[in-house]
Amino acid sequence: MIQYYNINGQLVDAQSATVPIHDLGLIRGYGIFDYFLVEAGQPLFIDDYAERFLNSAKHMNLDIGLTSETLKEQIFNLIEANGLKDAGMRLLATGGLSPDNYAPVQPSFMIMMNPAGGFPATHYSEGTGLVSVNYQRDVPEVKTTNYTMGIRMLPAVKKAGAVEVLYNDGSLLRESVRANIFIVTKDERIVTPASKILRGITRKQVLKIAHQLFPVEEREVAVNELKDAKEVFITSSTKKVMPIVFVDDLQIGDGKPGPITKKLAGLFRNAVEDYLAAKVS
Ligand SMILES: *Cc1c(COP(=O)(O)O)cnc(C)c1O
Repeated sequence: MIQYYNINGQLVDAQSATVPIHDLGLIRGYGIFDYFLVEAGQPLFIDDYAERFLNSAKHMNLDIGLTSETLKEQIFNLIEANGLKDAGMRLLATGGLSPDNYAPVQPSFMIMMNPAGGFPATHYSEGTGLVSVNYQRDVPEVKTTNYTMGIRMLPAVKKAGAVEVLYNDGSLLRESVRANIFIVTKDERIVTPASKILRGITRKQVLKIAHQLFPVEEREVAVNELKDAKEVFITSSTKKVMPIVFVDDLQIGDGKPGPITKKLAGLFRNAVEDYLAAKVS
């Protein structure tokens, strides 16, 4: 059970936590967030997430009055208050209340926790799929709260037995709704889109690992390149390294999670273990 959330710097009872009905997050959809995992009581890669969240806030002119240090302090305080060792954590900032219901004046800031979740084991052992849609996220470098396209497409995703939708601009790949995409080419290069995407923290970690083992290319990636891919995988805080074995009607490679995806997934897990070991010592 999660006992507390943090709303505007105050610990509040999670069950009865509320925001005003006129909050710009609600009436105008103006907000940003971030999401990361807590393992063994440690928020994973917290410096990266704190920095990205504060950058998102700055980009959207939301002055929540926190520095990286004071933000992290509030995060650690909430973890301690809830006494939960394994969890998901959401940072959220919205436009808040506004006299004219339009121009942000005093942003709202919240931190929420939820018990650790996860995806079905078969998503990893057998792989899963994506459903393509032509769409470009607004302010792609910012983790905005707008997931309209992804949520609206859920029936199609479910029908396809996929995990989520994959955005392209008609000819170039971007990212999936909540994850970054990677292709392993036939000659074993690791390729990932470089522009008009959210720069995932998991993507950053996986790139670091991949660089040590394979040629890596961050560049424009054509949708067509999926046809020749040996393997495809997506990365995110909650999905980690997840094998993709189909995109729409296209089977990727031999239709099974590939050895390079599995290798990178294992090495990413090791990086998490190393991170945790460095924090306790
Ligand atoms: C959260 C998210 C990702 C993945 O980022 P991580 O930091 O690895 O969780 C990628 N794309 C979008 C649009 C996202 O919202």
